[in-house]
Amino acid sequence: MQKIIILIGPPGSGKGTQAKKLVEKHKYGHISTGDLLRALASDPNADSEDKKKLEEMKTGKLVSDDLIYKLAFAEIEKYLDAGQGVLLDGAIRNVAQAEKYQDFFVSKNLADEVKAIEVSLSDEESFNRLTKRRVCKSCGEIIPWLPKYYNIDKCLKCGGDLEVRADDSEEVIKERIDKQGNVPLKPILDFYDNLGVLKKVDGQKTIEEVESDIDQILKN
Ligand code: AMP
Repeated sequence: MQKIIILIGPPGSGKGTQAKKLVEKHKYGHISTGDLLRALASDPNADSEDKKKLEEMKTGKLVSDDLIYKLAFAEIEKYLDAGQGVLLDGAIRNVAQAEKYQDFFVSKNLADEVKAIEVSLSDEESFNRLTKRRVCKSCGEIIPWLPKYYNIDKCLKCGGDLEVRADDSEEVIKERIDKQGNVPLKPILDFYDNLGVLKKVDGQKTIEEVESDIDQILKN
């Protein structure tokens, strides 16, 4: 199995859910730039210049590439130094980032260790799912859009209170799909396709089916 697994998909495609499963199964480091940015936002000791760059997050736009590299590369290095692989979850959102990450992996002699997996989902389904999902205030667990969860009001994992994520309002979701949906993802997918390392799974399937499709890809 490759050391660098990159999950790519529109918001709400389930890549975060799959990332958590893979990380648990294979003991990989989980690189979620969204999580790293939220950790930065709630860190009282964080660099104030870095914090100013988080404004875009509130409106669904992308934050500056430089901040992403600063946070993500340090985190990736930590895991690689410990001999672990890494799983990138939504960590690459434009071609400039894809190129920069690839240069970084090449500089570490890891070019042959990269596998990218597209979790595909239409923009319409992405919108439907995001307007219905909630997140636990205590542990950050995401309670997905599934009808069986519509009536629950406590976290399934820790019993904490649930809330709609700050960037899950309808207006912000529309902006996120505009900036992070299938149209902007296409050139990133083309980049990995041209490298010959891209595989695709259907994000419309159940969580279990997507997991099994990803397992199959990672075995080959
Ligand atoms: P997520 O939790 O992955 O949906 O990310 C939440 C927000 O963080 C996104 O809407 C972006 O504003 C920002 N973000 C996360 N990852 C990146 C990235 N690689 N590049 C730029 N902005 C990002």
